[in-house]
Amino acid sequence: MSSINEFYSKEKKESYYETLVKELSSLNKELNAFSTINESINSGYPFSAKDNICVKGFESTASSRILAGYKPAFSATSINKLLSKDFGFLGKTVMDEFGFGSFGVNCETPARNPFNPEYVAGGSSSGAAVAASIMKYHLAIAESTGGSISTPAAFCGVVGFTPTYGTVSRYGLIDYANSLDKIGIISRYAEDIREAFSVIRGEDPLDSTSVGKVPEEKRKDKIIILKEAMEHAEEKVRSSFAGLIGKLENMGYRVEEKSFEPISKAVSIYYIISMAEASTNLAKYTGFKYGYQGEDFTKGYNAFFTEARNKFGEETKRRIILGTFVRGTSVKSKYYGKALRARALIIDGMNKLLGDGYILTPTMPITTPKFTEVKELTPLQSYASDILTIPPNLCGFPHISFPYDYVGGMPLGAQLVSSHFNDNAVIGFAEQWEKQFEYKFRYNLGSL
Ligand code: GLN
Repeated sequence: MSSINEFYSKEKKESYYETLVKELSSLNKELNAFSTINESINSGYPFSAKDNICVKGFESTASSRILAGYKPAFSATSINKLLSKDFGFLGKTVMDEFGFGSFGVNCETPARNPFNPEYVAGGSSSGAAVAASIMKYHLAIAESTGGSISTPAAFCGVVGFTPTYGTVSRYGLIDYANSLDKIGIISRYAEDIREAFSVIRGEDPLDSTSVGKVPEEKRKDKIIILKEAMEHAEEKVRSSFAGLIGKLENMGYRVEEKSFEPISKAVSIYYIISMAEASTNLAKYTGFKYGYQGEDFTKGYNAFFTEARNKFGEETKRRIILGTFVRGTSVKSKYYGKALRARALIIDGMNKLLGDGYILTPTMPITTPKFTEVKELTPLQSYASDILTIPPNLCGFPHISFPYDYVGGMPLGAQLVSSHFNDNAVIGFAEQWEKQFEYKFRYNLGSL
């Protein structure tokens, strides 16, 4: 039985939500998963929304100071769909500003890893993954552009599902990069994700890129391991992943190694495209119509504009500068145009590989780092850690990250990818996995 059905079937004390809010508020002081907790929740299966997903009447800032105080007058389609079924809104989760990051540190109050608060929670959906990990019954609605669901799910020991591009409406999402953004789900179990996905997916007249095609479930018995992906993984990850492969073979899967050299270009392609799109999306936050507004209207245009734009964090400013550069007239064909063509080649190559089976890789090439370790990384080193989560995101393929081992007390995640619209097959794979592998959690808030 899924946790959702279990939750509905159990008797709940009248004070259930009050106690949950109290316990969560207290743990949140340590872990910082939520930027807002909805104290008036009083019914439904509790769910949270990443802070870049609009919820009517609740501050939605994409964890950016430039949007401080912004309370949308409408909710995202995915949120409305959940509210129209029996789901209850519990709060907004912390993230890397506008989704820019892999470790959750690019914001004012970074979420901490529930397994050990000295470690990062992953990013950019840091708070969403922590929320799913600490509560017995919870769905975290999150978003991925280039791995922001898989990465924190892997670091926090939960399941993270990123659907085929377009299957879930993006209406009400504060955009990062429109050709890459997907709203997805982080939860403890794939079984719950299946149910929630069936609620939030579907064509939406408010999002012209949304599709109504019913996701398939074409199960495959072959798993492809990418040679180049394994070469990028650190030794601890590689040896633990070898154990997972053995278990999958025992479950009846045929495992085959293949080479896919273009994967080593995926990070450059992704960062050129995503930054180009992000820099145009961020152009609207000038303090005139959107974003922080100064009080002093006697200031000159430049001073007013600069004051507002100074609210952006360091990583956001870096992306505006680089993204504006790569689409500049004199270099556009050298960077942006070339990246688009290379993206098409990656999509084509991966599509061919997937015709044959699923692709499986470790979710991250590294084990979960500590905050002190992340501080030492250069931006390029940080971008490079996305090497395994970027390829399916560049292609819009459905993928799922699931916990498969614990090393030094910290969880490790693996990521399974399938072809477009085979969403329910990747969910089905993780369901089969979690039937015979017991996930570990450190907290169980809200248990019944
Ligand atoms: N780490 C990637 C980036 O910083 C992915 C972010 C995301 O998926 N939102 O762009």
